[in-house]
Amino acid sequence: MAEMKSKIAILILASVTGLCALSIVQAYLINNTYELRKDAFIEETIEAVTVIDDHLTKIDSIRSEWRDTMLEIVAGHKQGHVTRDSILYYFQLKTDSLNGDFIAAFQEELTKGGFNPLMKFQKKVLTVILVEEAGNDTLYSSTNNQESYLLGQQFTGEGTKISGSTSYSEYSFDNEISGESVPDMIKVNFETETLINIEGWERVVLEEMVGLLVLSIAIFLFVFGVLFYSIRNLIAQKKIAEVKTDFINNISHEFKTPLATLTLATGMLKTNSAKKQPLEETVAIVERQNKRLQKLLNQVLDNSMSHNEIVLDKREVDATDYFQTVLKDFMLSHKGENVVLTQELSLGEKSILIDPFYLTTALLNILDNAVKYNTGEIALNFSASTKERLQITLQDNGIGIASKELKSLFEKFYRVGNKQVHEVKGLGLGLFYAEQIVKAHDGTIVITSKVGEGTTVTMELPINHPI
Ligand code: ADP
Repeated sequence: MAEMKSKIAILILASVTGLCALSIVQAYLINNTYELRKDAFIEETIEAVTVIDDHLTKIDSIRSEWRDTMLEIVAGHKQGHVTRDSILYYFQLKTDSLNGDFIAAFQEELTKGGFNPLMKFQKKVLTVILVEEAGNDTLYSSTNNQESYLLGQQFTGEGTKISGSTSYSEYSFDNEISGESVPDMIKVNFETETLINIEGWERVVLEEMVGLLVLSIAIFLFVFGVLFYSIRNLIAQKKIAEVKTDFINNISHEFKTPLATLTLATGMLKTNSAKKQPLEETVAIVERQNKRLQKLLNQVLDNSMSHNEIVLDKREVDATDYFQTVLKDFMLSHKGENVVLTQELSLGEKSILIDPFYLTTALLNILDNAVKYNTGEIALNFSASTKERLQITLQDNGIGIASKELKSLFEKFYRVGNKQVHEVKGLGLGLFYAEQIVKAHDGTIVITSKVGEGTTVTMELPINHPI
């Protein structure tokens, strides 16, 4: 049995480890899928934005217009029409005036392509440098300025840079120097970058994966459930097998003595040794052993009935009379044993509606147990009283029952599995049958106990149950 127990422990350990390993692999795969989807999603979006940014004529023309105006403003500065401080002001003015169209064009294209509406994009100016022979003149640098010129939408957070460019633009114009028109040219270096920001993209990716996640969790729960169910079944089966083995051992043990005696008796009959032992005596032995065997078999057959197989023949009996008779018979059968019984019968003149035959069997079963599972002087306290129901209590000072055994006592063939107890004969049917009888009477039976101190059995039955 210990071997079986450790086998089950190994099985549980192996299953749990396997399940954990499986979960780790599953989590790893799901995480991988998430990362892949995330990358694919970002890449797809970047590609779409780049295509729009590079190839859409509307965007292109807005960009050219912006650039041309910038160049004109810088040329104006060179001609002295625009002060240096106003350059940035005009930049801003132009940028703002174009931005509405820019956003609209971009958005339209994104919607057409079915892209995420949460996506925001912006084209940011980093530096504007006027390149001259004498040296470069930085007109604007985003690092020195709080505000920046941008086409597109504002967004909080970093954003993902999808491209950056530096371009030189040349612009020719007629400069008026001392009243004369002289062709002149400026070279301007624009540095820009394009950024996108997809708000809540994690949610978008997760939403795409929701089916996969739900399926994984469902499969996990299913496997876990099947495993749990199988192991629970296995343990239950094991317990049944143990109980049955115990029962077979017990009953074989009980059969051994009468069978051996019968063999002896038949041997005597065969050799006809009537001189040594009169025939009647041998026959009496055979009869006695035969009865014993029959009683054993009947015990198994009768005491195995479940409460819905028991057909009660209820009668109205005087309660005090009934219990006194049962207890008197019980004491008679234990004459000469060390049994002291105190009885408290507070039943008055009440009569109860019971099946006396069955209820007596149940009472004798618990009374016999109180004597059987006791090692010293046996002191029993039997009380019966009626309030709304009939309450019967039997208290003993026996060996007691460990609390973990209490829930199994009423199971068929169950016996407490400790050596000291097993020296006492029994088939594990007494309490099973007592409970079935009480149930057939619509009553309840409860056992409380403490090892070394004793056991209390309490039965409660309805007094006048309608037939
Ligand atoms: P059996 O007496 O044939 O073993 P029962 O069904 O009557 O079967 O009892 C089941 C088990 O409960 C017994 O094996 C015994 O260990 C325990 N038991 C029953 N009654 C008592 C009691 N009064 N004191 C201690 N143990 C008890």
